[in-house]
Formats: sequence, structure tokens, C-alpha cells
Amino acid sequence: MSQNTALSNQTKRWQEMDAAHHLHPFTTHKDLATKGARVITHAEGVYLYDSEGKRMLDGMAGLWCVQVGYGREELAQAGYKALKELSYYNNFFQTTNQYAAELSDKLAEVCPKGIDRFFFANSGSEGNDSAVKIIRYYWNLMGKPDKKTIIARKKSYHGVTLAAASLSGLTHLHPQADLPLPGFVHVECPDWFAEGGDMTPEEYGLKAAHSLEEKILELGADNVAAFVAEPVQGAGGLIIPPKGYWEEIQRICRKYDVLLHIDEVICGFGRTGQWFGSDTFGIEPDMINMAKGLSSGYQPLAAVGLGKRVGDVIFNSDEEWSHGFTYSGHPVACAVALANLEVIQKEKLVEKAGGATGAYFQKKLAELADHPLVGETRGVGLLGAIELVKDRKTRAKFDSATDAGTRCRNHCFSNGLVMRAIGDTMVLSPPLTITESEMDNLFGLARHCLDLTASEIGVV
Ligand SMILES: *Cc1c(COP(=O)(O)O)cnc(C)c1O
Repeated sequence: MSQNTALSNQTKRWQEMDAAHHLHPFTTHKDLATKGARVITHAEGVYLYDSEGKRMLDGMAGLWCVQVGYGREELAQAGYKALKELSYYNNFFQTTNQYAAELSDKLAEVCPKGIDRFFFANSGSEGNDSAVKIIRYYWNLMGKPDKKTIIARKKSYHGVTLAAASLSGLTHLHPQADLPLPGFVHVECPDWFAEGGDMTPEEYGLKAAHSLEEKILELGADNVAAFVAEPVQGAGGLIIPPKGYWEEIQRICRKYDVLLHIDEVICGFGRTGQWFGSDTFGIEPDMINMAKGLSSGYQPLAAVGLGKRVGDVIFNSDEEWSHGFTYSGHPVACAVALANLEVIQKEKLVEKAGGATGAYFQKKLAELADHPLVGETRGVGLLGAIELVKDRKTRAKFDSATDAGTRCRNHCFSNGLVMRAIGDTMVLSPPLTITESEMDNLFGLARHCLDLTASEIGVV
């Protein structure tokens, strides 16, 4: 039997086991079972390898999370050491471990100004669920139990647990589980490209911000607990707020005494060119949620960071806080996150994303704007989006049957590039370690796949 046949037989066996027994996230299982899942076996730097030996440049850093690239020795060693030394112990019953303590201290150093107390969870969704409970508890302790409604935005993504999915404004997340829960509402987001019509992006941004004020007035400020938002909306299609948007949002939150909870799960840890999206967009949050880049995805880990206002009230309460996970502050996850932050600092990855690497990425991205299929490119730091449109002038979209985004994504896969399609918005979010020659490779492949997509759907 040749080596290739052996490989395909092994792949087939894994695909069969998988199709028989494994439920995948966000997947049409019937469809997957007929195709067979791609089996990723290893990864190194910015490249993924599948069980057939095919190499792919990962333009998405996994799911927006592998800041330091794959296969880093420093993180593996830190995990191994912690696994041997303290494989597990909890942080209940007045105990801690050195890694959770040191990670809290490190986060206080790098987080947006004033955010200096941290609760650990195991996923971004758990972080947001915890944040919702903290927000409710805060207003209960403050003697304002009516301040409970949480306002988030359309097209936002905050995770999939009951509260996190209720926060999310991507409407396909709701009907299968009868969501949102009561007490969660959604207002406009600054999606100028799709919704802005003849307005300038700045005008549309202000209009979107004012929909928050209108909602607060409609509900009554005495009933509104918090506004929750990502600095840049990720899974909703990389929606980058125009100038003036965040200033106006913060004016409104302050005016009506509404807490500002910022979901930094994608934007945190250098992605937008500064440590946090809040730093890039001049946001002063009351609390934040982080996950993904916190551990570069090497371990499941999230953290909710609290500023003084909320933190003081919870820390100074006389009663026990009834919340926490078996794995909150898990020693191995925290040790790996510490090693991850060390690599980010030592290699100046935040400075690079905000400097030369980010500038080169944005230059290469902008060069795609002249392509006949492309209505707009936009980006910040090491985030980039490419809008596929039928009419470049009017920004008119293809009808959904055309499936331009999916076609383009499939061409990317076949040609060794992972680029995500969100509808017809192609999205990039590579590891922060990506080099100029790797970016040349990435954007060369991207243009080639845009060409293939254009000729397939008959755009010239
Ligand atoms: C990914 C993501 C989440 C959810 O994180 P999970 O670890 O998948 O639960 C929450 N918020 C944002 C902004 C995200 O991108």
C-alpha cells in the first residue's frame, strides 16, 4: 500500500467516526456527513496541515485567536511545567495558585486604564454570561433592582450560552432556542456599508449611536442596566465604527447612568494595533470580557475585567458572591496564558500590529479594492474585510443564491488559504506573528481566488 493510500484510509476512518459520533459547532450535520470533515493534524507558525498532507495559510488565526502563531515551544513548555507541578486545584475555599495570581497581576498591567480585577472563565461565552450576572448583581447591591435591561447591538456576537446568545444580535442564533431571554434588547450598529445609503459613514455612525439613546428613553433610564458591545464587530462582518461613534455612545451611557461592558474577545491582545480595542477607539469601559488571544487559543480561557466602579462594589460586599466555575483560574490555562503574554511582550507583537506589520497588511488589503468583485476593503491593525458586490458604485449585493462568499471561501480552501466568508464579506485576521513574505503569499492567493470567483459567477 502506498503512503498516500494509507493516508486516505486513515482520513476516511476518522471521517467515519466523526460523522457517526461528533456534533460540530455551527454545522449542518447531514451535509457534513456526506462530504466528510477536513481533518487538521498539525500546525506551525501561520500554516495548518491536514491529514492528506495539504498545507494552508491560516488567514483567520484559527477563530481570531492564535495571536502568537501555532506550535510555540514557550507555551508548550509552560503548559507542561504547570501540568507536572499543579495539574489542577480550584480557587474556591480561600485558595489560589501562583499562575492565576500572576496572570491577574499581568492583566492589570496591560488592560485598559482602570480595569484591574479579574474573574476567570473557560470561554468567551462563559465570560459574557458571568458579566451579565455581575451587571445584575451590581445594580441589586446598588439598591436599583429595576435597572436590569441590557442593550446590545444588531449583528453583534457575544457567544452561544443562554445569556451570551441573548446578548448577540445575529438573529440566526435565536429561534432554535427561543431566544433572546427577557431583558435583552438590540439597537442599530454602525454598519455603514450595508445600511448607510447616501449618508457619510460618520453621519450613519451617529444615527446608529442615537438609536441607543432612543431605546434608553423608550425603556426609561431607570430600567436600563448596561450597554454591551464589541469595539469592532467581528462575526457580524467586521464592522468598524466611524469617527465619532464611540464618543457619542459613551456620552449617552454616562448621561443615563448605563454601565458600559466591552466585549474584547476578538479585539483584545493586539488585534487592532493596541493592547485592546478600547485603547484603539478611545473607549473607557466599566468592565470588559476577553478570551481568544488571551491564551492564543492554546488553552480554553476567558477573563472578565472589572474597573473600580463595579469592582469596588463587589469586593466590598459582606456576602459571598455565588458564582464561579470548577475550572476558574485553572493553573495550566493561566500558566499558558502568562507564557503567551510574555511572547506578545517580548516580540513586541502589539507594537508590530500597530506599526510596520499592521501597515503592510492594510496596504496589501487596500490593493484588492480595485478588483471588479470588490465594493470595499476595510481594516484596522491585523483585521481586514473584503466586500464582494454586484455593483461597486451602489454597493448592491449579489442575491443570496449566487453565494459569492461561499464560492470564494471554497476557492481559498482549495488553493491553500483560510479566509472566512460572512455572507459576502470575506474576513482576515491572521496571527500577529505573520511576516511580510507570508502576507505577500496571503494576498497573492486572495487575489487569485477573487479572480476564480469572479470568472465563476461571470463578473469581468
Ligand atoms: C468568539 C467570541 C465570543 C465567544 O467566545 P467562545 O469562547 O466561543 O464562547 C464572545 N464574544 C466575541 C466578540 C467573540 O468573538
